Amino acid sequence: MNYINTKDANEKVSFRQATINGLASNGGLYVPQNIPSLDEKWIDEIEKYTNHEIGFQVMRLLIGQESLNDIQLMKIVEETLAFDIPVVNLSDQINVLELFHGPTLAFKDVGARFMSRCLAEFSAEEEVNVLVATSGDTGSAVANGFFGVDGVKVTILFPKGKVSSFQEFQMSSLGNNIKAVEVDGTFDDCQSLVKRAFRDEALNKKYSLSSANSINVARLLPQALYYFLAFKQLKLSGRSEQIVISVPSGNFGNITAGLLAKKMGLPIKRFVAANNANDTFYQYIQTGNWETKPSVQTYSNAMDVGAPSNFDRILHFYDNDYDSIRQEISSFTFSDEETLEKMKSYHKQTQYILDPHGAVGLLALESHLREYENGLFLATAHPKKFESIVIKAIPDYSIQEVDLSDCQKTIIANDYEAFINQIGTP
Ligand SMILES: *Cc1c(COP(=O)(O)O)cnc(C)c1O
Repeated sequence: MNYINTKDANEKVSFRQATINGLASNGGLYVPQNIPSLDEKWIDEIEKYTNHEIGFQVMRLLIGQESLNDIQLMKIVEETLAFDIPVVNLSDQINVLELFHGPTLAFKDVGARFMSRCLAEFSAEEEVNVLVATSGDTGSAVANGFFGVDGVKVTILFPKGKVSSFQEFQMSSLGNNIKAVEVDGTFDDCQSLVKRAFRDEALNKKYSLSSANSINVARLLPQALYYFLAFKQLKLSGRSEQIVISVPSGNFGNITAGLLAKKMGLPIKRFVAANNANDTFYQYIQTGNWETKPSVQTYSNAMDVGAPSNFDRILHFYDNDYDSIRQEISSFTFSDEETLEKMKSYHKQTQYILDPHGAVGLLALESHLREYENGLFLATAHPKKFESIVIKAIPDYSIQEVDLSDCQKTIIANDYEAFINQIGTP
């Protein structure tokens, strides 16, 4: 399987090369040259297979035969899918896919674990420096996934005062090959610094840079797996007809992986992109115009993205056709007040505790769902990760103190030179 560049169809690289490069040098994103199809019978009988067998089958098709042999791939899949990913039935039509049972309590553990293990295989010859900009959860998952991986050093940029103490702890408590850098700026500033570094050829040569944001194919593609695992569980409980899936979205990596699963043959009727006040995609669905804007801070801060980077991949998968995109994806946007109110009322009604991201997902699902459909929303993080918000809705939610005293972070201004001086240093 070749991977092509969304901004230069003539550039073709292997999965291995796409993973090492992260972003293409002209700023394009890598996508599979063609989307492989799964055998219909295989999908029809999916409940016969173990999660690891499903993971192996799907990733083998996406990666192709090069880059990883069967033993390597199976080991990576087993280490990636090493925790529960349960579908919980909440009411007649509503189900939740709990993606927060991994080590850092957010869905990004799946992609980060897969990618780190791929890079460990691919970086045997030279040291790779992974750069990552985060609004919180990516940094945690990447730090945990890459901790102690030989031949890989990780530099994480996070915006000052905009991540929770729990997230800061997860990024800055490990040390070793993981460096946490706090930037006096916003998430968009962090992302701009990292993007500039990837365009800097001299820097790339010197440090062999790679990205662990969802722009990296090795992080993005394995996220398709949990849509298959969700389908298997819905099928086992007799709820697999007319499935509508709502995805709390920020950079749109998660939903892109779902769209990919659907294109591979998974019978999903429709997707719903749930936005908070950062509603660039929602506006696009309404008007057909793509207008990025600065991000604004909300309670669901992992979705505070004004210029979602995976949009180019969505455009590519749908041949730049607005109408076909609109047919497959609906979108809704919700304010912090609506989010909090939902967390409060849903807990009263069902005892289920939503984190603010999941709450936006549920609101969007309920706005869209028709009578005969089966709804699934993704709970992308554990409520514990966002407890300062959860407690506003559910006052008796118990809070754990986080001790940051043994953590190590470097503080820098929003400045390119200051940033690149941190790369490759212990
Ligand atoms: C990263 C994240 C999101 C957004 O996912 P994208 O793939 O960037 O759209 C949503 N919720 C949580 C909790 C996250 O960590």
